[in-house]
Amino acid sequence: MATPKQRPEWWSLLACPICKVSLLDRGTRLQCNSCSTNFACTGDVVHFLTADNPTQRQLETPDGSSMVRGYRRPSRAVAAVRRIVSSEFTPGREWRAARSEVAAGPRPLLVIGSGVQQIPGAMHLDVGDFPGVNVVADAHQLPIADGALAGVLAEVVFEHLVAPARVVAETLRTLAPGGRFFFTVPFLFPYHGHPGDYRRWSRQGLQAEFADFEDVRTGIHAGPCSAMVNLLSEWVYVASGCRYPRGYTVIKGLATALLFPLKFGDLVVRHFPEAHRLASTLFVTGRKRVPAGATISAAISQSS
Ligand SMILES: [Zn+2]
Repeated sequence: MATPKQRPEWWSLLACPICKVSLLDRGTRLQCNSCSTNFACTGDVVHFLTADNPTQRQLETPDGSSMVRGYRRPSRAVAAVRRIVSSEFTPGREWRAARSEVAAGPRPLLVIGSGVQQIPGAMHLDVGDFPGVNVVADAHQLPIADGALAGVLAEVVFEHLVAPARVVAETLRTLAPGGRFFFTVPFLFPYHGHPGDYRRWSRQGLQAEFADFEDVRTGIHAGPCSAMVNLLSEWVYVASGCRYPRGYTVIKGLATALLFPLKFGDLVVRHFPEAHRLASTLFVTGRKRVPAGATISAAISQSS
């Protein structure tokens, strides 16, 4: 058990997800200074989700439990094959530069829906205590103090949120002025319950969703050819008449194995002027407004 002295640097940024006030460190639990709710700590992992949270119940559905299995036993061999034989192909300098501005940028950095992803020095938040997750919590109620963060990152997570606008508002609340976010979202992408799947965004939709931020930029993450491989292979599964999850891995896998070379067309097609009309996934980045007269670096360093 970590003593308070050994806690990670971001530990002091944690706040009650309900009252947003600071927490008392009681060793095996954190206690809200205001409502006295206790949150269990297992080593450096804090559990803010209660058993009656709707997200917790979704983890028990066929889609949810398949996601949990994948995260609990991530297979390197499967991941290596999937990098080639899949619809996933994301060339592009623009989104990579925008991502690294946040991922390699100033700390504290929060990764929402981190799964088994590991970014050095970041707080990793997800709905289950998967390997590498530090904070088990609901993104709609971030357990983080106001203006505490320099960066927020979430990759293909927003479609799984019941009320993404609330998470956008939580991002705005927890970022320091000048703090930057980077998110990827699906546009033309089949339904995938991980554990639920609620919506899609166009570039215009993203501009509207993030209108309260400044320097908002959007662009293609995975292009039209990637979208076609994914939609066609999913169509083959739907047309097979099976009920999910029966036959999904085999049928979708075989169709993808035939179609995947199409995705490399995005090396060319993603540069075409109308490519966003059929993009598979999009990215959006922006920053919290800096008050007139302040500089970005001063505003962010006040938070850390
Ligand atoms: Zn509280």
